[in-house]
Amino acid sequence: MLHLLTPDEIYPSLTAVDLERLRRRGVRGLVLDLDNTLVAYGRTDPAEAVLDWLRRAQEAGMRLCILSNGRPRRVRLTAQRLGIPWIESYSKPRRRGFREAARLLGTQPHETAILGDQLFTDVLGGRRSGFVTVLVNPVSRRELPHTRLVRLLERLVMRLLLWQGRIDRDAWQLRTS
Ligand SMILES: [Mg+2]
Repeated sequence: MLHLLTPDEIYPSLTAVDLERLRRRGVRGLVLDLDNTLVAYGRTDPAEAVLDWLRRAQEAGMRLCILSNGRPRRVRLTAQRLGIPWIESYSKPRRRGFREAARLLGTQPHETAILGDQLFTDVLGGRRSGFVTVLVNPVSRRELPHTRLVRLLERLVMRLLLWQGRIDRDAWQLRTS
C-alpha cells in the first residue's frame, strides 16, 4: 500500500518543479491539480510565477491539462483563463480521470506526470495509473476542514515513508516544515 503513496519527486511549490529533470525521465505530458497547486484554494487567479512556469513548460514542449476534483464551473473558468484543457473529474484518486487526461495529452502513462499537493488523491491516483508522481506543497494554508484532517494523515504517511527509506530526509523536511 505504501508504495502507492510514495511520490517520485517532492518540491516546495509548482514553480520549483524541475522541468528538465522531468523531461530526462521521459515525461512529455503534465497533468496539473488545480486547488492549492495552481491556485490558492477556491481561487481562479494563478500567481505571476505560476503563469511564468506554465509558459516555460509549454516552451519545453510539455503538453498540459488540468485534472481537478473542484467545482466544475470554477475549474472551467480557471482552465479557460489559462488556456489549458481540463478534465472535470470529482474522482481522483480513481483511475478514470487519469486515463482521460493521458488520452487528451496523447501520452502513455509512463510519459505523463501528475503534479499535485495531496497524497491521497494526486499521488495515489497517479501511482495507480502508472504516472510519474510529483508532490508539491499547498499554495496556501486555507483549506476545507476535511482537508485539514487529511493533512494529519498525510503527515503520518510521510513519516512512515521516511522510516521505510522510500523518501529521503530532505524531501520529508520539505513537506513537514
Ligand atoms: Mg489540490
